[in-house]
Amino acid sequence: MTTDFSISRRQMVERQIKGRGVSDPLVLDAMLKVPRHLFVEEALQNQAYGDFPLPIGEKQTISQPYMVALMTESLQLGGGEKVLEIGTGSGYQAAVLAQIASRVYTVERFPALARRARRVIDSLHYNNVNIKVDDGTLGWESEAPFDGIVVTAGAPSVPESLPDQLAPGGRLIVPVGTYGAQVLKRITRKEKGSLEEDLLDCRFVPLIGKHGWNDRQG
Ligand code: SAH
Repeated sequence: MTTDFSISRRQMVERQIKGRGVSDPLVLDAMLKVPRHLFVEEALQNQAYGDFPLPIGEKQTISQPYMVALMTESLQLGGGEKVLEIGTGSGYQAAVLAQIASRVYTVERFPALARRARRVIDSLHYNNVNIKVDDGTLGWESEAPFDGIVVTAGAPSVPESLPDQLAPGGRLIVPVGTYGAQVLKRITRKEKGSLEEDLLDCRFVPLIGKHGWNDRQG
């Protein structure tokens, strides 16, 4: 018997996402469409719509559905934007972004994760996602500026290259704090300077790179 994941997906959106206050119709629609179970290994597929992160290899995780929805909503996309994600992981967040934005750029430090994400994203025929293997704390200079940037790993401080790669009015969503606990921040680039807001407490795997943690910490 094949499982009908669309029922689990609808429940996930109702209970975990709408139920906790995410209301942007573009985000809810994207979360209803992207088949999250295809972004985890087969043995974990029946847990893919649960209210928690799941392992994806290389000691990394696919973020909890609510966190993906909240980060996407916090970017305040209207459709048609150019966005950058740091930390491709499974590719799930990139696929959600690809439903809304017109172009998605995403950077992953582990080649094996980037390869797997590429395969899943191609199999679903998202043709607006660019993936590269690199240190994402440097952003993606040659493609800047971006209307939105989302960092899906926890940083010790705001990586200095990222605000510079925002278009005027652009938003950067980034978890900042210690190795084990962070606050999700939104930095909005203004004509002059920027606005910084704290959104909520969170817990992400570490951002490792030049403007992140170094590999030996933790
Ligand atoms: N957005 C992912 C979540 C992955 S977890 C998803 O939807 O599945 C965070 C990811 O960030 C991990 O895959 C980790 O390897 C990656 N990462 C950590 N530091 C990084 C860096 N400096 N550059 C690029 N990727 C990084």
